[in-house]
Amino acid sequence: MSSLDDALKPQLYERRAQQHYRRRRILESPQGTHVRIDGRSCLSFCSNDYLGMANHPEVVAALRDGATKYGVGSGASHLVCGHSDAHHDLEEALASLTGRPRALLFSSGYMANMGVIAALTNRHDTIFEDRLNHASLLDGALLSRARLQRYAHGSVAQLDAQLSQSTSQRKLVVSDGVFSMDGDLAPLTVLAQTAQQHDAWLMVDDAHGMAVLGPSGAGVCEQLALSLDEVPILVGTLGKGFGTFGAFVAGSETLIEALIQQAHTYIYTTALPPAVAHATRVSLRCLQEEPWRRSHLRELIDLFRSGAAALGLALADSMTPIQPLIVGDSGHALALSEQLLARGILIAAIRPPTVPVGSARLRITLSAEHSEADVTRLLEVLGDVMDEMHGDADSAAAMAGGS
Ligand SMILES: *Cc1c(COP(=O)(O)O)cnc(C)c1O
Repeated sequence: MSSLDDALKPQLYERRAQQHYRRRRILESPQGTHVRIDGRSCLSFCSNDYLGMANHPEVVAALRDGATKYGVGSGASHLVCGHSDAHHDLEEALASLTGRPRALLFSSGYMANMGVIAALTNRHDTIFEDRLNHASLLDGALLSRARLQRYAHGSVAQLDAQLSQSTSQRKLVVSDGVFSMDGDLAPLTVLAQTAQQHDAWLMVDDAHGMAVLGPSGAGVCEQLALSLDEVPILVGTLGKGFGTFGAFVAGSETLIEALIQQAHTYIYTTALPPAVAHATRVSLRCLQEEPWRRSHLRELIDLFRSGAAALGLALADSMTPIQPLIVGDSGHALALSEQLLARGILIAAIRPPTVPVGSARLRITLSAEHSEADVTRLLEVLGDVMDEMHGDADSAAAMAGGS
């Protein structure tokens, strides 16, 4: 056996022993609320396709039309010759949606976050991040070589103290808008005030709020009425609420020009396929024309929360389609996920290191494509599975210790 395999195997065994080993299930249908996975049909509550746009007939048709018009690959980076009118039109539509002067497309949210943070800061600067921020925001800070200070989840008081002590020239505060594994909102209004008081810049990653929150789907900034001055750097992704792929940064003319010159993950990578940009533009339009998607989703969230409360489940403080049930122990979370699957319900167990140790969970997500009957079915099965678990003393203790 090679020394490479010799070195890797013990880590894999350790992961398995900790119940943190990951395996991929194979999806054999389009993404949606009813999927075929590993050879079986099930009702799914775990995609980020919150508005049901990933397989929307008009979006699918737009991708097809886009391929006919533009071909498949963009063939180059944006700065060489890969920036098409489809990309440009989408950037203008995203700027208009978010009420920002300009928007810049990136090939993924991971790349947008790494690129922006590393372009705006260097080793003389300090970055302040919420402890529960997405991995891409932490990796961006590492890449920038700036000093990284993390504050307790949502703790503006701790951030304020850290900012007061900082002597760095540039100070960048970075937060998820909606926290991806918990579904709660960052306290952005106070974060923005605090950042302004300390002459720090605020960057908000609204991967899970974009398309979902706010009267017109412009995300958490629209919901909380936060202006360009308050949130000068706004990141949104296209692979979640919009159902396609890619990401964007919205901000001032100067910010966008600086990123075009300096963000490596923008400059040194192939532009998104133009047909995907075209399909995203159509997804945006459909979402404006089908406001029922957001209102129906809100109704489902209320239905789920009242039903779960009636079952005595410990709900998280979330008004978004992300409704985690925190179990605690990774083995228990996995076992629950398996029991749900045996009854035809797909919900992934999210374990460390994606979430803090001891906070493994079922990350339930709702979609506008779910019916009320789907949510009722979910509650029924959750009730049954929890009852069975309460027969098991260990498991019952683990559940009570959750959240
Ligand atoms: C999913 C996610 C990303 C990454 O976006 P991709 O487009 O999937 O690369 C970034 N930030 C947060 C908070 C996310 O949840």
